[in-house]
Amino acid sequence: MKYRDLNIQTQREAPNNARTEGFAFLVRAGYLTRENVPTQLGQTVLDHLQRQSVDPAFLSQLSLATIGNDSETFFPIDSGSVDIAHCPFCKYTERLELARFLKPAGILHELPLPLEKVLTPDCHTIEALATFLGIPKEKTAKALMYTRIVDNKFVFVVVRGDMQLSEAKLKAHVGEVRVATAEEIERSGAAAGYASPVGLKDTLVVVDELIPQSQNLVAGANEAGYHLKNTNHGRDYRAEIIEDLVRAKAGDACINCRHPLSVLSAIVLATRKTYDVQNILLALAETYHDAKGLTLPHPAAPFDVYLMHVPGKEIDTRAQAEEIYNTLETADMRVLFDDRDERAGVKFNDADLIGCPIRITVGEKALRGGMVEIKARMATNNVLVLIAEIAGFLIK
Ligand SMILES: [Zn+2]
Repeated sequence: MKYRDLNIQTQREAPNNARTEGFAFLVRAGYLTRENVPTQLGQTVLDHLQRQSVDPAFLSQLSLATIGNDSETFFPIDSGSVDIAHCPFCKYTERLELARFLKPAGILHELPLPLEKVLTPDCHTIEALATFLGIPKEKTAKALMYTRIVDNKFVFVVVRGDMQLSEAKLKAHVGEVRVATAEEIERSGAAAGYASPVGLKDTLVVVDELIPQSQNLVAGANEAGYHLKNTNHGRDYRAEIIEDLVRAKAGDACINCRHPLSVLSAIVLATRKTYDVQNILLALAETYHDAKGLTLPHPAAPFDVYLMHVPGKEIDTRAQAEEIYNTLETADMRVLFDDRDERAGVKFNDADLIGCPIRITVGEKALRGGMVEIKARMATNNVLVLIAEIAGFLIK
């Protein structure tokens, strides 16, 4: 391909909306627009990655620092849109909303005490309730109310007050739900802000597995301004579904090895064998760059060679470069020919930004000896190679 045909536009400055260095270089090198849309050059590399993805070893060949599980492969990055729970010790990795963890036993087993209705004015939240009663949050039951989409069933969920519900886990057990309306809550006999499953009719009660293990919890009295002390699952209400329903957080114990879980932002590179090549390109750029630009490894780079000529005074360097271009293309190499009549410095900068593994420079001085300069992107020095020996040199 020729530089001008690809309509490459490089930029000196990083875009001000860049959240990571990799994204900044992809925009500066002309692979992506500021709006994260692939350019023609970008599409060339995406197509190249897509073609390579049929190889079972595709992702591992790119040597990216990925984490994952049987179904998904992630790349941790600050700008990522997916939250991941990850165990640095045993490598357990799962989307945060589905991650399992070892729940703290927290409170000691107690004998059930009699129910007691208490006045709790303005205690609409777990925090306010725990403060008002002078008890830890793990002694409270948090209520969340939904309506199941498929049959309009009222779904009453209870998790311990010190835990957060994972709607993803809830949906995995009961199907799609939406938040219940005020009318639906009232119809069930519950009172918003003061709700519990005690005494409700025609309700699917779903509780986290910690609830049956926790005695004498404070829960709503289904009457505005009142709570019940000493509610006990099994005696005061009974759940149809008892499952893990709560969301892991950083520091929770790994389900496999008890080490503390980390929570990371990530992008998804693959779902089973379906690859997101644009995210893979971002991961590559994040991993492979230096101060001057991208340093894409051979299997990822859109071109093997960046070929350029330095306009000469006596020799038509462009014509010589064109010949070399044709020879290398015939030898099945992927070549980006910078055929512009620009100064050498401009082209060197662009070559470094775009990050092909090899740069070939066709200039007057070396041409007098029948040679060109070859420089690997990551090398500090050039080597001079006879024109007739270029293809052989590169294959080495
Ligand atoms: Zn672990």
